[in-house]
Amino acid sequence: MQGLWLSKGSWAFKSDLLDPVIGLDESLVAVQVAGICGTDLELARGYYDFDGIPGHEFIGRVVSGALSGQRVVADINLGCGQCLRCQAGAHRHCAERVVIGIHQRAGAFAQFLSVPNKNLITVDERLPDGLAVLAEPVAAALEIIEQMPKPLPSRVLVIGAGRLGLLVAEVLASVDCKVTILVRSRARAAHLQNKSIQVVTSIQPDSFGWLVDCSGSSSGLTTALHAATPQAILVLKSTLTDAVGVDLSPIMVKELTVLGSRCGPMDKALAWLGAGHLSAPLSVCYPFSAIDSALEAAKEPKYFKVLLEPDQC
Ligand SMILES: [Zn+2]
Ligand SMILES: [Zn+2]
Repeated sequence: MQGLWLSKGSWAFKSDLLDPVIGLDESLVAVQVAGICGTDLELARGYYDFDGIPGHEFIGRVVSGALSGQRVVADINLGCGQCLRCQAGAHRHCAERVVIGIHQRAGAFAQFLSVPNKNLITVDERLPDGLAVLAEPVAAALEIIEQMPKPLPSRVLVIGAGRLGLLVAEVLASVDCKVTILVRSRARAAHLQNKSIQVVTSIQPDSFGWLVDCSGSSSGLTTALHAATPQAILVLKSTLTDAVGVDLSPIMVKELTVLGSRCGPMDKALAWLGAGHLSAPLSVCYPFSAIDSALEAAKEPKYFKVLLEPDQC
């Protein structure tokens, strides 16, 4: 089959990839579209030792298996199913877990992938591809609400206007929270759809009791630590692999609560997208073979999302 192979930081389009092996209680899924995400770019930089087919944000159609014919997305975390965490429903924290397209499991930047049936979630045919493919990052944004103590604070600062930061802002604004987003360039903020979201380019120290860092940068984290009031909750939402040199003393001095946040509930993400909180954002789609152009487009602020799809053959 055709698809992309990532090895030691370099991407290659291949047409001789081995077809996926379909295990017990798994289905074969034909990929329709897959999104390039910051994590894919981190993988290419060596964030995990990854050799294989990346891609974890996708929508596809089941070609064989229990859900044959269904349009699906997937919960990308595959737990062992046996350990205490898996049995308690926390498979995302299973020590033995593999993660589709990220850690020891082939992903969606190919014509086909195999997915355990229990990880597949059926998508309403009325939900357009351009929205359904956002289910994984929207789930990650919703996870913040799952984790936060209730009631939620009435206002929040989101730091960073990458794709995840923008989705976090939209999700939190949709639950009647007054959202301020701190951006480096106003160009990215043009993608925001909820007009109640306030866009700023600088922030006062000690000004927010709830902050979500989506910057993925040590300077963003530093800004967050300064902007936090004493006893604030700081949610770390993006992968930050280079925090060397960040002064963490505000965490102790201001008695901050730091809350790490990763993947979230896919079923709730589909429900959120289906409820019409968002219209399909401006995306551009390339065939797998045009990966170089796709990676270039991913650097441009004008596209909310860069998508990949199988080459027409
Ligand atoms: Zn992602
Ligand atoms: Zn387990």
